[in-house]
Amino acid sequence: MSRGMGSEGRLSRFLQPPALRQIAVFCFFEAAFYLAYLYGMSFSQACASPFWFPDAVLLCALLLTRPRNGWVFILGTLPIRLFSPIAQGSPIAQGSPMWFLLATFAIDSAKGLAVATALRVFLKNPIRMGTVKEFGIFCLVAVLLAPAGSAFFGAAALHAIGRDYWTAWEQWFMGDVLVHLVLTPAILYWLFNSRREMRMPRIRKSLEGVFLAVGLILTCWLAFSTRLNTMGILETRYYFPMPLLFWAAIRFGMPGACGGVAIITIFSVDAAIHGRGPFYGESPADTAFSLQQFLLLRAAPLYLVAILIQQKENAEHFLRESEERFRTMADTAPVLIWMSGTDKLCVFFNRGWLEFTGRTLEQELGNGWAESVHPEDLRRCVDIYHTSFNARQPFEMEYRLRRYDGEFRWILDRGIPRYTAGGKFIGYAGMAIDLTDRRLAEEARQDLIHASRLAMLGELTAMIAHELNQPLSAILVNADAMNVLLNLQIAPMDEARQIVEDIRRDDLRASEAIRRIRALVRKREMEMLPLDINATVAEVVWLAKGDASRRGVDIREEYCENPHLIRGDVVHLQQVVLNLILNGMDAMKDNEKAERCLLVRTLRNGEGTMEVSVRDCGHGIPSENLSRVFDSFFTTKQNGMGIGLSMARSIVQLHAGRLWAENNSDGKGTTFRFTVPTLARRPTQREPAAKSKEYLAEKT
Ligand code: ADP
Repeated sequence: MSRGMGSEGRLSRFLQPPALRQIAVFCFFEAAFYLAYLYGMSFSQACASPFWFPDAVLLCALLLTRPRNGWVFILGTLPIRLFSPIAQGSPIAQGSPMWFLLATFAIDSAKGLAVATALRVFLKNPIRMGTVKEFGIFCLVAVLLAPAGSAFFGAAALHAIGRDYWTAWEQWFMGDVLVHLVLTPAILYWLFNSRREMRMPRIRKSLEGVFLAVGLILTCWLAFSTRLNTMGILETRYYFPMPLLFWAAIRFGMPGACGGVAIITIFSVDAAIHGRGPFYGESPADTAFSLQQFLLLRAAPLYLVAILIQQKENAEHFLRESEERFRTMADTAPVLIWMSGTDKLCVFFNRGWLEFTGRTLEQELGNGWAESVHPEDLRRCVDIYHTSFNARQPFEMEYRLRRYDGEFRWILDRGIPRYTAGGKFIGYAGMAIDLTDRRLAEEARQDLIHASRLAMLGELTAMIAHELNQPLSAILVNADAMNVLLNLQIAPMDEARQIVEDIRRDDLRASEAIRRIRALVRKREMEMLPLDINATVAEVVWLAKGDASRRGVDIREEYCENPHLIRGDVVHLQQVVLNLILNGMDAMKDNEKAERCLLVRTLRNGEGTMEVSVRDCGHGIPSENLSRVFDSFFTTKQNGMGIGLSMARSIVQLHAGRLWAENNSDGKGTTFRFTVPTLARRPTQREPAAKSKEYLAEKT
């Protein structure tokens, strides 16, 4: 079947194999072609048929069948043309040589094939003209070019049997024009598209159709079936059917127009054959010409109106359908959705939004939604919306929106500009997600991370006291010494200066210790910044060293050369490292003093990540617990809380990294490793990497 047929379920089912059906279809075609031929030849008084019906039947068959089966239908026309009694009895066939019949067969077949091929190539669906453009292509190919071209050959054949060349050309051309303008669309629309085109087959519409058909038949009968006038087609009653024809085209689209034209054609052809109505008293040649003009002038504008209306209705229907689809989708989506127009005012809120705010669509439309936004967030929201809108940029903002129960909930609102398929800006669409629960969970996690950090620092109280005590005692001793020096008669100024310098250095050391501890104690949001992992690790090792020396643990450090920058939060990453160091020291508490050794390393592992590892020589982890140690509240320590490693893992995951543990291959202790993605560029001198050198220099 043709491409168009593929979409026409009913007929394609009918025309599909088995072979019996194909034979039935062929017989149907033969009968239709025979009738068309008979009708076409019935203008016995005309020089050539003014209305070449067989062309319409053949073209429809060629359009509806697969291209490779076209030859069957073409050959099927030959016996009718050569041997049917009507052909033999017609004025053209009578006495016409066989070559003439074969020539006209060849011309019509070639024309049919050429038109069918061209329509297949140029139209999306060759059996249905949905737009004015498609109708224009159909008219150009089937109604104009093919008839004009074939008329040259047809006229030549007629000229060879004694006709005037240009008169024959004109008659041949008009006969083809008319049939493709009047009959071909009627066959295609009524037999293969009627159900699709008439979208509202309601009873009222059916009654309207019957009324129209009856009205048309009556007015056509009045116009064509009497011999009362002699004023030709100018007589007013020939225009009676016109309002009804336009009514049919406007209300029923192409099927209506085709049906109307078919009715008027039947009456006018009958009148032409019998010399009645507008064709009364005309010569055969004039009758044919009058009939052609009469129908052409009525059919062409009618089809144009029908297609224009159909095109508009199709567009509206498509729009309605897509709007309906969107509305259904938006209403079932578990998010809040809004849309605004080019004037920035909101034109749509989905059911989710309305249920959330507990307000009506009318209340929310325009700027009504702003009434539900928290007053503290409103100005910021409006600013972001307007700025992004003017720049046609997507935006993302968080604000509090009042829920139906009065509670303000945090909303994440993402807006994007909307454009038509043609690229015209038509406003914005946004999707708002309720963030409150997520925020609460995040806050709880931050609290937990902070609490676990405080708990960990609690273990370091001795170290903190030591870190502060040492410089304070040194300052005290130096102050006493200064006092003694000042009581001397001649104070040794060089020694005094040295003492003051020592006091200053000790004071700076104490302040630095306080700064670092305060940084760890403070509760703060995560702040992802470019970081040098060496400096980050070195700082926390420096803090832990006091505790390590108290516990008799030797902490060794190995920092990689030229580390890549990472993006991360310094305090949180330090919390991870400190936790691993403290756990490692705990695991070695039963070791001989000489075997309490901890190795902290950083390395570039070549996979776009920096790796930090903490290796101890402790008791190790039973293999079945290697992954469980990261579970919340898993602890083997008497006073342990079991949240340190689980917090450490979630911090590392927030940095898009990985934390894992493995027992050392020499059977002594465990190594914890974590990775963090690099920023994919090397640090420059002015960037924090320089800081690591300071620390390393200070450390050595
Ligand atoms: P806590 O230290 O409060 O127990 P963690 O989550 O930090 O909580 O550690 C959970 C458990 O993992 C510890 O109780 C311990 O059994 C095990 N663990 C952690 N680090 C090590 C280590 N370096 N060597 C052996 N076991 C360890």
